[in-house]
This record gives sequence, C-alpha cells and structure tokens, in this order.
Amino acid sequence: MPKLLIATKNAHKTEEFKAVLGDRWNVSDLCSHPEIVSPEETGSTFAENAAIKALAASQRFDGWVLADDSGLAVDALNGAPGVISARYAGPNSSDAENRARLLQEMAAHLETQSRGGRFHCVLALAQAGEIRGLFQGVCEGRLLTDEQGTGGFGYDSLFVPEGHTDSFGVLSSEIKNAVSHRARALEAFQTWLSRNPDIG
Ligand code: IMP
Repeated sequence: MPKLLIATKNAHKTEEFKAVLGDRWNVSDLCSHPEIVSPEETGSTFAENAAIKALAASQRFDGWVLADDSGLAVDALNGAPGVISARYAGPNSSDAENRARLLQEMAAHLETQSRGGRFHCVLALAQAGEIRGLFQGVCEGRLLTDEQGTGGFGYDSLFVPEGHTDSFGVLSSEIKNAVSHRARALEAFQTWLSRNPDIG
C-alpha cells in the first residue's frame, strides 16, 4: 500500500480521513513523525496554508502527503473566524475557548439575524517537495446560540449542517463523514485519483 502522511496532529481529523479513505493507503499522521515540525501558518487563505503544511511535511517524508487547512466562516461576522479558526481566542487557545469567543462575537451581532455559515476545507497533496493537487470542500449550515452535543471537535457543537436539525456534536460520525467539508474535499481528491490510476 502507498504511504500517505496526513500533515496534522489533530487525531479527530486523522480519524475522518481514515474513515473516508478506507484501507487503500497506509495512513499515518504527524503524531507518529515527531521529526517533522509543523510550520507557521502564514498564509491568508485556506489553500495557501494547506500548501505550506503539505510542502513542509513533504520535504521530510518519503511518500504522499495530504495537508488539510480548514475553518469556519460565519456570515454575521463577515467570514470570521476563517483561517484563524484554530486560534480565534488567541495563540494556543483550546477548542472550548474558541467556541466561547464565537458565541460572544455572534451575540454582539445578533441584530443581523443571520446565523448562516459554512465550513471550508482545502486539501493540498504533495510529493517529493512539490504540490501535486489542491482539493476543496464546503459544508453549508447555520450556527447555534448554545452548544449542542459533545461529539467531534472544534466548532462541531455549534454547527448544524444544511438538511439536518442537529449539530455535528450530536450527529453520528457516519453522517458527518458523508456531508462535511472534509468529506467533500476528500471526494474531489478521490475523483482526481481515479483519473491518475498510477497513484495510490
Ligand atoms: P487547522 O488545523 O489549522 O486547519 O484549523 C482548523 C480549525 O478549524 C480547527 O481547529 C477547528 O477549530 C476548525 N474546524 C475545522 N474543521 C472542523 C470540523 O470538522 N469541525 C469543527 N471545527 C472544525
């Protein structure tokens, strides 16, 4: 099986990748590669940051690398937290602190009456220090005023995907992996793979 490194230390993300990619790849993540240091995410778009992460890991890994940059864009906040979703409440902030800041910011903008938002995911595929592809996925939905459920990670307990009435914090991982931004970006990756049968 070809080796695929997911350039993340987020075990939740790795599980979602494994669930969707099945057993076609020998998947590992940065938790088992302490020698690969995560770069600073200095890009201003998801695509730039995904490419930065993929290239950095690819320079140290002999195999395929897939890096995910993802985040939440809230209409009432003009697209925030966006690329700084992981550090919305400050450097090294926890998921709980980021959710608390989001609830606070949304409360201040309640007059807009807009609870719409979406998760974005861009995957960058790299090999031998070069970007081989970029794949995007979006999941539309709405934001809650209170946390619902304890499943998932990040902003899952505050986000209800389109077509559902419960948050990702309540919905099963099977449902999340069928409709999420990451699952959609992975679908685009798999379509690309089917056109490049020499890989994977
Ligand atoms: P990244 O690891 O730099 O790409 O940051 C992604 C951040 O966006 C995470 O720390 C979460 O706060 C948020 N995020 C991305 N994907 C998801 C998801 O599937 N559920 C909940 N939050 C997510």
